[in-house]
Amino acid sequence: MSKLSGFIRYQCDRCGKTAYLAENSVDARTWYNVSRFNAAQCTGGKADEYTLDSDCFTLYSRLITGEDKSFTDWMHPAPEPATNTDSKED
Ligand SMILES: [Zn+2]
Repeated sequence: MSKLSGFIRYQCDRCGKTAYLAENSVDARTWYNVSRFNAAQCTGGKADEYTLDSDCFTLYSRLITGEDKSFTDWMHPAPEPATNTDSKED
């Protein structure tokens, strides 16, 4: 009986899905490690680390894309529309 080594057990921190995959295999590249700072960690500290399968990573990407837009809109608000108070009706 042969014995193989070099496998990693993955478990998604969101949905609990598990997989045993050979290191550096194509399938192992469909699992993602993400780092996230929450509100309490934003002025220092270590980010939380999560492992996500491809489905949950797709959902996470969608979530943070929306959060990125909210942050960008907050950080760089659009200028107030100029009101023209100098116009006079003749
Ligand atoms: Zn998952």
